[in-house]
Amino acid sequence: MLNTEKLLADLVRIPSVSSVSPAFDSPNLPIIERLANYLEDLGCATEIMALPEDPGKANLIATLGSGEGGLVLAGHSDTVPYDDTGWESDPFQLTSNNDRLHGLGSADMKGFLAVATSIASRLDAKRLKRPLHIVVTADEESQMNGARVLAASGRPKADYCIIGEPTDLKPVRMHKGVLMEAIAIHGGSGHSSEPDTAPNALDGLSHVLHALDVWREQLRKRFRAPEFAVPYPTLNFGHVHGGDNPNRICADVELHIDMRLVPGMDPVAMREELDICLNQALAGTGCTYKRRILFEGFGAFETSADSEFVRVVERLAGAPAQTVSFGTEASFFSSMGMETIVIGPGRISQAHQPNEYVEQASLAAGETLLEELVTELTS
Ligand SMILES: [Zn+2]
Repeated sequence: MLNTEKLLADLVRIPSVSSVSPAFDSPNLPIIERLANYLEDLGCATEIMALPEDPGKANLIATLGSGEGGLVLAGHSDTVPYDDTGWESDPFQLTSNNDRLHGLGSADMKGFLAVATSIASRLDAKRLKRPLHIVVTADEESQMNGARVLAASGRPKADYCIIGEPTDLKPVRMHKGVLMEAIAIHGGSGHSSEPDTAPNALDGLSHVLHALDVWREQLRKRFRAPEFAVPYPTLNFGHVHGGDNPNRICADVELHIDMRLVPGMDPVAMREELDICLNQALAGTGCTYKRRILFEGFGAFETSADSEFVRVVERLAGAPAQTVSFGTEASFFSSMGMETIVIGPGRISQAHQPNEYVEQASLAAGETLLEELVTELTS
């Protein structure tokens, strides 16, 4: 039997930062190999699934028992980057302070990976009626490429999935989807005193902003999701850059937007609508545009409140399933045909910041709860 805190200390010691800026990004293979070693020793069949376009990155599928159906315990292996200055202890050294275990990724979500591994060490594969899969992904904190590759592979197949993101052990059955796009508007340059000699990209942008504002108002009416604190889809103007001198016609400007999608909105269809909107906005202005994906994103995630799985988790957790504002890999596991719930030890407010910690009590309670869930769903 493995000790959860010792496992957590070992996982925290192995850096696995992922970032969209290459300067901070690092491979996750060392932590995947370490987990594969632990789980193989426990009798799991393991598969390391390399990410074809990301050297040094891989997912892990470890399976205890065999047969159809069963349960997936899923977590990401990567952490966000850390601020050198903000930490009072070494981010790669699990440090306990009263009830708190500090370390990069302790809450988000190496604590859960330690719990899942520890639970596997107490199970007897021969007594499982259905398999338990422990799935560890790459790149959740950057582009979610690990989950994307996993979903494309269609492995593993199971009935149920628990994603152990830090929810303070409250079940989550719904969150919004997201996509991010860059829209580069191109006009022409010329002297400011002769505005008719070239289309001004900033004039084009004003048409685009107006059209996007009208579109988001329509989306707000078309798609409602009263379960969320913000009960409608959103579209945020997040970044704009363009032009140089006041006395020149502006030739190029780029706008970045972020959309949060509610259930029923398909990211592919939204991108098509976005193109229709941009084409209409720029018609007759002389400007053209190029759209590029900043974050491929994912659709909203929803498991029905009536689902038997939701009821089981609610009963064992002693709390009703809720919605959250942050995104997870749940949409990918859902798309593979598994009923999916997000629940894990630690709090999201403790993640992504210096001195990240998970409480020992939360880790222990998470272990008890998840072990009950695993027992109920694999026997
Ligand atoms: Zn996370």
